[in-house]
Amino acid sequence: MFIGHFGVGFGAKAAAPKVSLGTLFLAAQFIDLLWPTLLMLGIERVNIFTDGKQRPPLDFVYYPFSHSLLAVIIWAVLFAAAYYVIRRSSIGAVVLGLAVVSHWLLDLIVHYPDLPLYPGTSQRLGFALWSLPIFEMVLEFSIFALGVWLYLRTTTASDATGKWALWSLVAFLVAIHLGNFFGPPPPNVTALAWVGQAQWLLVAWGYWVDKHRVLAAYY
Ligand SMILES: [Zn+2]
Repeated sequence: MFIGHFGVGFGAKAAAPKVSLGTLFLAAQFIDLLWPTLLMLGIERVNIFTDGKQRPPLDFVYYPFSHSLLAVIIWAVLFAAAYYVIRRSSIGAVVLGLAVVSHWLLDLIVHYPDLPLYPGTSQRLGFALWSLPIFEMVLEFSIFALGVWLYLRTTTASDATGKWALWSLVAFLVAIHLGNFFGPPPPNVTALAWVGQAQWLLVAWGYWVDKHRVLAAYY
């Protein structure tokens, strides 16, 4: 799941309008932002299928610190606590914590059974919607469209940048998602990890968009 997580980030703006889109992206995509660093450090492991038989071509062999349910709950609590300490907003903290957990729940729907409940267990979960790519696409794009719609309802552009930065971000996310789906598998884990790290730019893009938009009149 990729674009669906960004959909959650966009949509969460309606629940916590004062939180920047960048911070909402950071929360909804938090464990996938952590994962490339854990791969690079050799703490977590992934295999890439090059035979083209499985989509996506990734075998998530070992990722309990980013993607076990227990770890995600701990990350969510830490994320919410950090936000509360910095911004003193309990609504913002709760929404961000839920956004962090939402990542695991959405992954649970689409992943093959590779998500552990806690580090150290061999029992792994996943409802494998990835095996029905059309339905998976429809689910992700629906979440994304709903999220963008909620964001558009909650904010209005305060200048031209607020409009174009947003729509170029939306187009870029759609392009990456389709590129991931239809493109070739990554050549190796290092390349995959660097592409993962590049997602920090999407977080920055979220902050940039949000700076050029104001809350709609009824907020
Ligand atoms: Zn994930």
